Amino acid sequence: CGIVGYVGPRPSQDILISGLARLEYRGYDSAGIAVIDRDGHLGMRKRAGKLQVLRDDLIIDPLPDGTTGIGHTRWATHGGPTDANAHPHLADDDKLAVIHNGIIENFATLKAELVDEGYEFRSETDTEVAAILIGRAYAESGDLVEAFRSTVSRFDGAYTLLAMHQDHPGLVVAARRNSPLVIGLGDGENFLGSDVAAFVEHTRNALAIGQDEIVAITPSLVEVTNFDGEVVEVEPFEVTWDA
Ligand code: GLU
Repeated sequence: CGIVGYVGPRPSQDILISGLARLEYRGYDSAGIAVIDRDGHLGMRKRAGKLQVLRDDLIIDPLPDGTTGIGHTRWATHGGPTDANAHPHLADDDKLAVIHNGIIENFATLKAELVDEGYEFRSETDTEVAAILIGRAYAESGDLVEAFRSTVSRFDGAYTLLAMHQDHPGLVVAARRNSPLVIGLGDGENFLGSDVAAFVEHTRNALAIGQDEIVAITPSLVEVTNFDGEVVEVEPFEVTWDA
């Protein structure tokens, strides 16, 4: 339901949690974040319930801080509102974290294929199917953008998908189809959001991502391509409303 991503020099946890708080108005039943810490390890916390449940959890059981992160508030469509079904979902030996807004309509067919291959699932969501397929493609190529390119066009329905991999600190990759995605351009840092509320307290310079496009952000670069790998020019806009 709500999505935020961050790459830059600052500790990401507060940026993710406050971004999710600004997306709370959309409604949700669970929340979670993943962060790549300074030792290059991917950590994740996710809980059913209000953002406060996740905040309390992070006080009791803190996550080492890092500067790359993704955060999600979930509105359950496939699988009830449980801790296990909350996002992020992990794949590639828990080195890859994926969050998702929307519905992957053909997930059952894709899941049956993966079950046949021996993959095990820890949730009932459509999202975990996407996570495992992206993780499997990543394991082959070692290239997260390429892993998106070879998988996301297979997903029918609506999605904004964000992923990061602990082998690539400082990189968040995203794709969208029938579901919104905006980039926030900062100074030595960049943001992703399901809407500009996710990052407007940090920057008002934004890019709206078009249908069937893939985005890669690092602290200093933004690359937007279509599903065929061709570079897409995106017009910047300024957020003018008061946040
Ligand atoms: N379909 C996904 C799920 O149920 C994502 C729902 C959402 O957009 O929050 O987990």
